[in-house]
Amino acid sequence: MKAAVFKEVGQPLVVETVPDPTPEDRQLVVKVGYCGICGTDLHSTREGDATVEHGCILGHEFVGEVAEVGKDLKKKWSVGDRVCSLPFLGCGTCVACVNGRPFECATVQLTGLQVPGGFAEYVKTGALETLRLPDGLAMESAALIEPLAVALHAVRVANMQAGQRVLITGAGPIGLAVAVWARFLGARDVVVSEVAEQRKVLAAKMGATAVIDPAGNLAEQFADAAGGEPDMVFECVGAPGLLQQCVEMAPRHCTLVPVGVCEQPDTFMPFLALVKELRFQFAIAYTRDDFETVISMLGQGRLDASDMITDIVSLEEMPEAFEALRTPSHQCKVLTRL
Ligand SMILES: [Zn+2]
Ligand SMILES: [Zn+2]
Repeated sequence: MKAAVFKEVGQPLVVETVPDPTPEDRQLVVKVGYCGICGTDLHSTREGDATVEHGCILGHEFVGEVAEVGKDLKKKWSVGDRVCSLPFLGCGTCVACVNGRPFECATVQLTGLQVPGGFAEYVKTGALETLRLPDGLAMESAALIEPLAVALHAVRVANMQAGQRVLITGAGPIGLAVAVWARFLGARDVVVSEVAEQRKVLAAKMGATAVIDPAGNLAEQFADAAGGEPDMVFECVGAPGLLQQCVEMAPRHCTLVPVGVCEQPDTFMPFLALVKELRFQFAIAYTRDDFETVISMLGQGRLDASDMITDIVSLEEMPEAFEALRTPSHQCKVLTRL
């Protein structure tokens, strides 16, 4: 099969022919329809602690059709079933796996980082991690299930309540997806802070009740826009200094939810957080139920995040599009069509 393969830091991915995957007894092989490019893919192909290995096939935001069914799964799955999958291969038998939390499995392998992912014609998925798509749901929209699940998970673990005022820093795909859920779940105000003009427009389109500028005073701008202080701040940028900025602007008893991936050491002033009795609630990934909820809502037509798709490229065009995303532009979510 053809796949976009990581060679080394500083070099674009290379589209080449690699061996087709074969499913184990409780695995499926999925023919990829679309696979989204994610910030994590960009992080893990540059110099740092999280750099993937030579030969890695990235891509964890994939959807497609079942192409091959493992021996033990013939009763439940058929070739042609439209599916998406949590990008994990769990052991399938531990408490975490059985309860739909494969990310917490002690032997989990991350698809698209540790085992080959979705920037390829075919990808291997686990029985417990794979979910059917509703008939009416377009494949392009389904490619957003993963980022929407990240955001739903964050809003859930933060225990956001209807009527609360919410600040979201950063209008990348995750910030936008948090805005979608905050609005959907009844936040009174959904204020997004963002620098880039085109992303500001996108934020307003996708659920923000106001968009403010991180260059100015966040607390003042928030108060002007929302008529009160934030109950919750979702930090969706993940750059050093952002947590301190949140600690400074947060009112007393505010909940700070770091969702953005920051891989560098960072500092904040604990005393300031202590005086305000702030609550930190970090959030990562998703459960099977987060995925199922997103799929169900998309399938019912109650949720639409397709505005965040700014481009669809072929596998051949993908390495160039991938490198271009390292520099901020009007692009938001770029999908690869396989
Ligand atoms: Zn992702
Ligand atoms: Zn397990």
